Amino acid sequence: MIGIFGGTFDPIHIGHLQPVLEVLQDLALDEIRLIPCHIPPHRTAPVASAAQRLAMLEAAIRGEPGLKADDRELRRPGPSYTIDTLTSLRAELGDTPLCLLLGMDAFAGLNTWHRWRELIQLAHLIVMHRPGSLPPAQGDVGALLAGHRVDDVSLLRSCQAGYILLKEVTQLDISATHIRALAKAGKSARYLLPDGVWELIKKEGIYV
Ligand code: ATP
Repeated sequence: MIGIFGGTFDPIHIGHLQPVLEVLQDLALDEIRLIPCHIPPHRTAPVASAAQRLAMLEAAIRGEPGLKADDRELRRPGPSYTIDTLTSLRAELGDTPLCLLLGMDAFAGLNTWHRWRELIQLAHLIVMHRPGSLPPAQGDVGALLAGHRVDDVSLLRSCQAGYILLKEVTQLDISATHIRALAKAGKSARYLLPDGVWELIKKEGIYV
């Protein structure tokens, strides 16, 4: 069973990494692919270049064998739609169960994603609690959750896709926005992200 976690990663920080590591371990996944997006469909363009975001990601996961950087979205022209990424992973990985990891805030807005109803046909969804975000109880995403939610992790292994698991993770109220603001103000963000990532940001003046 393989996990997938996409994001802008501008920059990657421990608010991403610690929950992802917990999912890797608690669900006994074989690996989690971290996939930086090329052109995010839902937000303004990243500040760091694609190459810088990938370099920061690689620095962050160095020495952690269960976490892998996957640059397929950076190599694909145009907007990074998760449905396309899942389709290409599914073609590559055959019938391995896939788990798409999402923060609760991202999950709550799932119905704005391109061809969002098809995502659950290609992967399970692992929704990680994020400070300040509650599970959607109503609307299209609330209905999707009600129809697909399970609490038993072993069910995820029994099929390729189709279930939603809400996962308690260590909640770290950290955002890339805050880290960029600190760097721009000439302040240190050192303990909010791995040392290697902060060193790269300083060395290349990425957010100055
Ligand atoms: P920004 O501040 O630039 O919007 P971000 O910190 O939210 O960035 P993204 O790269 O946009 O990071 O997030 C990618 C994924 O990580 C999303 O699914 C988001 O919900 C999740 N995520 C980001 N920060 C956290 C956090 N502190 N705790 C849990 N999930 C998080």
